[in-house]
Amino acid sequence: FARLPRRSAPALDLPPAEPEPLASLEARDISAWFGDHQVLDRVSLTMPAGVITSLIGPSGCGKSTFLRILNRMHELVPSASLAGEVLIDGQDIYNADRKLVEARKSIGMVFQKPNPFPAMSIYDNVLAGLKLTGTHADRDQRDFLVESCLTKAGLWKEVKDRLRAPGGGLSGGQQQRLCIARSLAVTPRVLLMDEPCSALDPTSTRVIEETMLELVNDVTIVIVTHNMQQAQRVSTQCAFFLAAQGTPGAIVEHGDTEAMFSEPIDARTFDYVNGRF
Ligand code: ADP
Ligand code: MG
Repeated sequence: FARLPRRSAPALDLPPAEPEPLASLEARDISAWFGDHQVLDRVSLTMPAGVITSLIGPSGCGKSTFLRILNRMHELVPSASLAGEVLIDGQDIYNADRKLVEARKSIGMVFQKPNPFPAMSIYDNVLAGLKLTGTHADRDQRDFLVESCLTKAGLWKEVKDRLRAPGGGLSGGQQQRLCIARSLAVTPRVLLMDEPCSALDPTSTRVIEETMLELVNDVTIVIVTHNMQQAQRVSTQCAFFLAAQGTPGAIVEHGDTEAMFSEPIDARTFDYVNGRF
């Protein structure tokens, strides 16, 4: 793998070397149910292109459900149903004409617990998404993609000499960055991250935050976090979710992160961001 870095991605099935313009994501009037149990009530949120949006709020208020709706993963649960629309650059990802695989390709997801394929090599882990989406790439293209995705995920220097080692042998923080690299390989336009640092130590958390702040130049990011300092460090915009006394989750307040922490409009936001519940 000791190859010189290439200047541009070779052609064929792979996306062009010129990145697509950044995408905005919009949720309109999203309500969600598991069976009869309503867990989200008319949630609307615009997640602008090229910024990090943080979703905050107590456990059980529907943040993960909301994120999974943005990625069409909610529909994988047999009892789940939903109402509303999700638009990426104005196009409804639930449009019957759009293939599920296309929607998933344009919206990547990283979970709380790093989940690389443990026995699979680091190299193959990065490329795992290509097989799922049926994207053809020859050897040179694969090498290029592995290097560029690992570089973007801030992991290349640490692993370039052991790309054939199993992904499961990396540290937790490295595994999470490998998962980020894997999600980038299909060139998503939006990256959803559900508490990506909750299982990591503070040093790894910092590295991932720095990675996110670099990545947001290429991909719109939505992150769920319970760490208020993290929300302030990384996000431009913040949305506070709450499910008050048995009611479905809803957004109490959203807006500029700085403003939300320094002068929240709603008393419940004030209490939450100050650790009072
Ligand atoms: P958060 O991420 O904010 O902690 P979740 O979206 O995980 O909240 O959960 C919101 C609500 O939906 C909770 O009441 C939870 O129990 C319920 N829920 C989540 N996933 C499922 C599921 N697969 N089946 C049934 N109920 C679920
Ligand atoms: Mg959650």
